[in-house]
Amino acid sequence: MVKKQIMARGVKDRGVLDAMKKVPRHLFAFESDLSAAYGDFPLSIGFNQTISQPYIVAYMTEALLLQGGERLLEIGTGSGYQTAVLAELADHVFTIEVIKDLSKTAEAKLRKMGYENLSFKVGNGRLGWPDEAPFDAIMVTAAPEVLPEGLVRQLKIGGRLVMPVGVGDQILMRYSRTLSGFSTESLLAVRFVPLR
Ligand code: SAH
Repeated sequence: MVKKQIMARGVKDRGVLDAMKKVPRHLFAFESDLSAAYGDFPLSIGFNQTISQPYIVAYMTEALLLQGGERLLEIGTGSGYQTAVLAELADHVFTIEVIKDLSKTAEAKLRKMGYENLSFKVGNGRLGWPDEAPFDAIMVTAAPEVLPEGLVRQLKIGGRLVMPVGVGDQILMRYSRTLSGFSTESLLAVRFVPLR
């Protein structure tokens, strides 16, 4: 169901499509939303936060250009849904969430589902995770006003950071670390909750 929906919207990466098919989105939704869990729209997870619609989760994952075996940093664990999709594709996912309740709930859920290649942290994701850097790729699922440049410095050379940026009208951006600095691409108009 989700796979058809996101293929129709142009997501092609086989690994991403398989991961999206494998992770049961309804396990991350509220009971009252169970019938809506696979719809083409975001879902509430409490605390005024949402899980992005399936297409955006798939699009952002594809934009990381993963080939398998990566060390990933995710900022904004939320429900853990995106974390699970990333855990299907990467060697290890380090994930940071500022709201403790969300982090603990996501951790318990993902452990119960059997994911072992995950590390959780409660804190301000703007700072990244210096002790575990550098990463092959970083995904941020809340929008800062401008690029927090310190995050780019936690990428390996050639590594990618995918993140919505802006206030009100936001653009999904991809920053790629180069030998001399980083390159910038604008990918898509999006709407995310603000990064605190
Ligand atoms: N990817 C999540 C949804 C993310 S919603 C999912 O699949 O469910 C954005 C999340 O970013 C929220 O949980 C919010 O609490 C978190 N967040 C906002 N600012 C943050 C910050 N500075 N550091 C870490 N997490 C942050």
